[in-house]
Amino acid sequence: MHAAVREEALAAMSRTYDTQWYILGEELTLFEQAYSKFNQVAHTIGVGNGLDALTLALRALGIGPGDEVLVPSNTYIATWLAVSHVGATPVPVEPDPATSNIDPSRLAAALSPRTRAIVPVHLYGQPCRMTEIMAFAAQHSLLVVEDNAQAQGATFDGQLTGSFGHANATSFYPTKNLGALGDAGAVTTSNSDLADRIRLLRNYGSAQKNLHELPGYNSRLDELQAAFLRVKLRHLANWTRQRRQLAAWYSKHLADIADLRLPTVVAGAEPVWHLYVVHTPHREALRQHLATVGIETLVHYPIPPHLQPAYKVLGIPAGTLPLAEELAATCLSLPLWPGMTEEQVADVAIAIISFLGK
Ligand SMILES: *Cc1c(COP(=O)(O)O)cnc(C)c1O
Repeated sequence: MHAAVREEALAAMSRTYDTQWYILGEELTLFEQAYSKFNQVAHTIGVGNGLDALTLALRALGIGPGDEVLVPSNTYIATWLAVSHVGATPVPVEPDPATSNIDPSRLAAALSPRTRAIVPVHLYGQPCRMTEIMAFAAQHSLLVVEDNAQAQGATFDGQLTGSFGHANATSFYPTKNLGALGDAGAVTTSNSDLADRIRLLRNYGSAQKNLHELPGYNSRLDELQAAFLRVKLRHLANWTRQRRQLAAWYSKHLADIADLRLPTVVAGAEPVWHLYVVHTPHREALRQHLATVGIETLVHYPIPPHLQPAYKVLGIPAGTLPLAEELAATCLSLPLWPGMTEEQVADVAIAIISFLGK
């Protein structure tokens, strides 16, 4: 991907180098405008990374100590950490195992008088069932912060993820569908007051030099990353098309294999295939077999947040969230990148079939 944009990217970075203005400048403004247009929101606020985007969104919405926030039980730990960092408590909700996304029908059982918000995560680039989630949130006066780190460009019922919630977070970590050359992230929202508050929070609570209205943070998306991201954003639709084609090839070549469950796409969802994740009870053995024939795979994620040492303090014992634990034990992310060929997909499939049989 980076080879394909090398000349454009280096030109943008070289131009930025020469401006001698590296923080909160023209490149960031232009990228924020371009990303807002792409995501069909009124405002994008570039921040330092995805975790900060989630944290600042929750803080700007006034979530804090004493509040409970509904989160998926099987997400990347950043989703939970953002809730903890504003002083609130993450309350896990189990997924629909078919999609690995939060199951809207399980939200009601997790409600308490302290529940203030929901953070749906569009895991692996599969959009959550946002229509039901937004209706549930409205019915119970809850705020919604989408974690759109893995799903830039995905839609549910025709609407882009990252545009449903009150304020939404995304990440431009290098391996994300839109990735920087380092850390970067953004909040998206169509609420101008919220956007202003997040702009203050990311920059020491300051809109005007030497005047600090809030006890803010230092979390800014720098000019070099913004210049680079604006180049890559122009190619994102093309890369997403390729990811969709690769996923379709995987689904064709991997059909009807015993002990291998393929990803399910629910009605209304248009995923962007950040990852193509299969499930098998023989995960570790299959992973080793693929490694021996030169096929690298990854596991997203082997240990769910509630079983991490960092969350021992919540006292959620093993066995309490069986669906998250089962998915963590069986998931396997297959190779997928824009530029991969059908032949390479078929090679992966052949290696899987040679191990699991057909
Ligand atoms: C990557 C990711 C984050 C955090 O993003 P960083 O930029 O690494 O801080 C949050 N949530 C999910 C689902 C992610 O995949």
